[in-house]
Amino acid sequence: MNKWYVGVDLGGTNIVSGLIREDGEVAARDKRPTRQEAGLEGSIRQMKDSVRAVVERGGVSIHELAGIGIGSPGPIDPFEGIVIAPENLPAWRDVPLKRIFEDEFGIRTILDNDANMAALGEQWKGAGKNAADFLCVTLGTGIGGGAVCGGKLLKGFNGNAAEIGHITIDHNGPQCPCGNRGCLELYASATGIVRWTKVRMAIESPETALTESPDMTARTIFEAARDGDDFAREMFDRTGTLLGIGLVSAINMLNVEVIAIGGGMADAGDLIFEPVQRTILERGLPGVREKVRVVPVELGEDAALLGAAKNAMET
Ligand SMILES: [Zn+2]
Repeated sequence: MNKWYVGVDLGGTNIVSGLIREDGEVAARDKRPTRQEAGLEGSIRQMKDSVRAVVERGGVSIHELAGIGIGSPGPIDPFEGIVIAPENLPAWRDVPLKRIFEDEFGIRTILDNDANMAALGEQWKGAGKNAADFLCVTLGTGIGGGAVCGGKLLKGFNGNAAEIGHITIDHNGPQCPCGNRGCLELYASATGIVRWTKVRMAIESPETALTESPDMTARTIFEAARDGDDFAREMFDRTGTLLGIGLVSAINMLNVEVIAIGGGMADAGDLIFEPVQRTILERGLPGVREKVRVVPVELGEDAALLGAAKNAMET
């Protein structure tokens, strides 16, 4: 008899669920809007409906599930199963999601943060498949990180391990919302590259096809770089170099074999991967720097579902 799990990824825009067999086969998927306009209750209803939908689509009964895993934006308390105060879910404050799910379905439910779940999923079935020591980095509005060490998800004593977005790059750098200064995510996230591109344009008036506009995004800069704009290419090079510097700190702490990079910025391909790899070779420890592999993530939306299911299996 196969064991079945449901993995749920709670996001600010969408809720994605998957019915997952214990060997990692995704038997059914569901995606629906988070419906934040309907408040906390509305979003929780969407999550419950999504779980019912995948179970039904997969021809399994809820009571046959061996566990439900949920990935949520942080901060969360994974041990109590509480969503504390995610920036992109303003109605969610101290929500005991684990208890709400267990009351609804009578199935053991395990919660962890979405970056950790993506890391665990990629390590199980994606870019980190054969690496027991693995780091997964998501470059979005901020930078999310999750690490698997010796085959186990690194959680930390209260669930906040592998926050590599808040490694210090410049101790005199700009203030980060976390309270620190000069954090990696202020430089190497999609938001970061836009910020520094605008700063350089304002100070240096470089020759570039980019125009100063509130609509500038990482994609606009990428498109200019792809079309041969030297200044845009330089901005990607700088961003990749700073990301590499942050990753060297992570490599020195964790001695990971594989680092997978995902999120919108990873779509820039060599424009970002090349300076990252060069920087690791320049700055990593001898005996380590030549062996670390930096690769794109492989699983897309499935990563967090698979990770959440695996987390429910192992917790
Ligand atoms: Zn920070």
